[in-house]
Amino acid sequence: MGEPGFRQGSANSPVDQIWSWLAEVPDPEIPVISLVDLGIIRGVAWNGETLEVTVTPTYSGCPATSVINFEIDRKLRQHGIEKIALKRQLSPAWTTAWISTEGREKLSAYGIAPPIEGTAACVGALKVLKVVCPRCGSQNTERVSQFGSTPCKASWRCAECLEPFDYFKSI
Ligand SMILES: [Zn+2]
Repeated sequence: MGEPGFRQGSANSPVDQIWSWLAEVPDPEIPVISLVDLGIIRGVAWNGETLEVTVTPTYSGCPATSVINFEIDRKLRQHGIEKIALKRQLSPAWTTAWISTEGREKLSAYGIAPPIEGTAACVGALKVLKVVCPRCGSQNTERVSQFGSTPCKASWRCAECLEPFDYFKSI
């Protein structure tokens, strides 16, 4: 038995273990992918007995930020970590290139076409986007609206299977 008030080894959890716990926290907007898949968790490090988690929001002013911080905090406390410092890092800005390969596969399986990198500045202008339908795999798709169910997505429709779907815009 430890002394009363002794904090049971909260600073003993290896960083790899903490990453795997964070990989269980779903993105509040697209719950099929985790915060780690989304690439917004930039760092996990112990500073003495305090765990510092560095988070880069997907875009500044995103209303999900406070929810994300709450969920990170809750997940870590479930595992006995009590001293948590969430650090917000705005630079470099988050980009869809940080979405993991696994995250892209999960998006596609969920019916959201994952972002095509390198297209951010050119959407609808110089380049013709070849967005693959997440349902049937056809490239015969067209943009219906610049904005989908959230500002980060656009509404598209497949000309083959005629299904509408969301495209996760590259930023
Ligand atoms: Zn289709």
